[in-house]
Amino acid sequence: MKSKGTGTSAREKVFEGLPVGAGIAIGTVFRHDSHALVQVRERRIPATKIRSEQHRVLEAAAEATGRIETLQGEAKRMAGPAGEELGYILEAYTQMLSGSRLVRGVQKRIAQERINAEAAVMKEIGLMAEAFAAMDDPYLAARMADIREVGRRLVESLGKAESDGFEALPANAVIVADEFSPADTALLDPERVAGLVTMLGGVESHTAIVARSLGLPAVVAAHNIHDAAENGMTIIVDGGTGIVIVDPTAVTLAKYRRKRASFVKSQQSLKKLKTVAAVTRDGFRVGLQANIEHPADVDAALAAGAEGVGLFRSEFMFMNRADLPSEEEQFSELSSAVKKMGGRPVTIRTLDVGADKLGDAFGMKPGPNPALGLRAIRFSLSRRKLLLIQLSAILRASAFGPVRILLPMVCMVDEVRQVRRMLTRLTAQLKRRGVKIADPPPPLGIMIEIPGAALAADALAAEADFFAIGTNDLTQYTLAVDRSDDQVAYLYNPLHPAVLRLIQFSAEAALAARIPVSVCGEMAGDERMTPILLGFGITELSMSSNSLPRVKKRILALNLSAISGQVRRMTGESDPAKVKAIIEDLGKGS
Ligand code: PEP
Ligand code: MG
Repeated sequence: MKSKGTGTSAREKVFEGLPVGAGIAIGTVFRHDSHALVQVRERRIPATKIRSEQHRVLEAAAEATGRIETLQGEAKRMAGPAGEELGYILEAYTQMLSGSRLVRGVQKRIAQERINAEAAVMKEIGLMAEAFAAMDDPYLAARMADIREVGRRLVESLGKAESDGFEALPANAVIVADEFSPADTALLDPERVAGLVTMLGGVESHTAIVARSLGLPAVVAAHNIHDAAENGMTIIVDGGTGIVIVDPTAVTLAKYRRKRASFVKSQQSLKKLKTVAAVTRDGFRVGLQANIEHPADVDAALAAGAEGVGLFRSEFMFMNRADLPSEEEQFSELSSAVKKMGGRPVTIRTLDVGADKLGDAFGMKPGPNPALGLRAIRFSLSRRKLLLIQLSAILRASAFGPVRILLPMVCMVDEVRQVRRMLTRLTAQLKRRGVKIADPPPPLGIMIEIPGAALAADALAAEADFFAIGTNDLTQYTLAVDRSDDQVAYLYNPLHPAVLRLIQFSAEAALAARIPVSVCGEMAGDERMTPILLGFGITELSMSSNSLPRVKKRILALNLSAISGQVRRMTGESDPAKVKAIIEDLGKGS
């Protein structure tokens, strides 16, 4: 952490992490502990309960006051200025609890919003903290910390610190977490979240992917952020530089408000590209598609001008639940996305659970090395009934628009063959039963995300109908660097020659076999990588919707023929630093 000397508040704390989701967020800290959730749950209460809920607040205030008075007694026994200082602070606390603005505000909120006391306390604290932050007076800033502390004591006295994820999210919340799992995402109301900061995680971790897909400014690996960021504090997240500022001064706030306004303006100008075709200056047409995690993401995909869904991660249906989704439920979710895409292709990936994407519903226990264990297609093939249900739901969804089936983590030809046989039988059964499915049935493609699959791409291209190169896992497995481990994040580099060569080899194998090939890892959404991927002959890219306009802008400015020499030179390089230099060079020219 760097402590800032600028501004008038000694409290401003600056942290530097890894930038993962562009944009600036200015919001209120909401701490989330994914391992031990202790948050306040907001509950609606009936009108008849208002009085008793307000009474509970008074009782809790009295109880909290009693506990503070005991502390005051102890403070008196402490020698010297420390005891005296503590005495003043505790005195201020008791004053705040006796018929104060805080208690009155909470009671009013209970009556007006008809919510439980705990939630009303949290909301009131958030509001007061915001007002204090805007004042930028060191004395008032100190009071703000006091108010938070009193609020915490009040909730404690209410005795109901309930465990419930994100239900008490204040509007404009910046979630500060140790880490953020795909399961957490499903619980989140994106409307209320302004940004995301985690202590752990790498740039291609799921936190990062989630942030990009939600269009949230985000920073990962902001070590020690927990020491400074408390619920209700104002926080700035610069997802472009990785800077996080807790409790900013008015000067800093003003600076970042200007920065945010200019970012929003540039995003708006990118939006104008929505209907423009992605064609390079020398006439190469590129297909730009969206990665989605939920049918609701289709709106963002269409708004960004996506020509299809290149990767629909189907895990969302299996997260945060103890049972399994029925075929009907899966069919309804998948077909809703297919319908909404209005005739554009939708690539549905079968379940990719395991390792960091553990589904509660399966009662899965991580093996000795989960990333190399029973996950993705391996897991599906070990639970055939489950796979059959999912395939059946996908086939039925294909009646509503062009669908492609994508298998994750394939490493053997036989895995493709097994699924193909299952699909052939299932198609025949469904047809016999008169169930409508696409004719011809959906193509069956595979993710290339294991180095062994990339090196066997020529053999796999003879079995699969298309390839989708997953550069996130491909980088992780090629370099033996866990994509979500911040301790080795400095080694996670998709520009490593080994990774680039595997991508190139896979692309060439697909082109030779005349099957479509796309990239759907995060690399596809990084416009600095666009020239390389196109240089490898890849003309389909799938990315989070938010990245799409930037990548399109890069394509429109690109003269592919002019850079083919540099791309060739780059793949001959064995030093990642030199590769990086060539890429920077490509960035300057076409
Ligand atoms: C990948 O590994 O690149 C990929 C797209 O899949 P996921 O990020 O869902 O593992
Ligand atoms: Mg993957």
